[in-house]
Amino acid sequence: MGSNIGNRLEHLQQAVRLLQSHPSIHVMRVSSVYETEPVGLTEQAKFLNVAVKLETSLEAKELLGACQSIENKLGRMRKIRWGPRTADLDILLYNTDHIQLEDLIVPHLRMSERAFVLVPLVEIEPEVRNPITGMLYREEPAMQQDGVSLWKKVESIGDFLQQN
Ligand code: ATP
Ligand code: CA
Ligand code: CA
Repeated sequence: MGSNIGNRLEHLQQAVRLLQSHPSIHVMRVSSVYETEPVGLTEQAKFLNVAVKLETSLEAKELLGACQSIENKLGRMRKIRWGPRTADLDILLYNTDHIQLEDLIVPHLRMSERAFVLVPLVEIEPEVRNPITGMLYREEPAMQQDGVSLWKKVESIGDFLQQN
């Protein structure tokens, strides 16, 4: 998840609360909060990013729908691709599935090239591998990119939700 508008931390906390309140989603872990330089469209504010691990009985497409409804609740306006947003919730991985639907590709297509994705992901799941190539995400070259700094250490979900 990422946010780079307004109270970025509050948006991420709100997104986690909304995930938690979904009857079919159980939030297992939240990474530390990282502040990251925008990638793609670089003339915009820095992001806060976290990775979240969850258990769900939802199918991947239903989970995407839940994520999009949370984005909408948080007031996301879909104008500029890669542009500023109150909250962006992407599905990085879903078990070890390889999904190629028109509106959902998992593993997320660009995750292996993005330190702002890999660093929080690997923090909560150090041994996770790319289900297609078998490569450990922590060994991806993009892990070494600049532009990702620890902003707040998170010890637990409760800790994350109480931060300000
Ligand atoms: P990026 O995908 O590069 O991170 P973005 O998050 O800014 O860019 P969005 O405008 O949020 O892009 O989403 C564009 C579309 O991507 C969504 O409408 C969704 O259908 C599609 N999509 C495909 N795969 C995924 C995925 N794994 N997680 C979330 N959205 C996905
Ligand atoms: Ca994204
Ligand atoms: Ca997205």
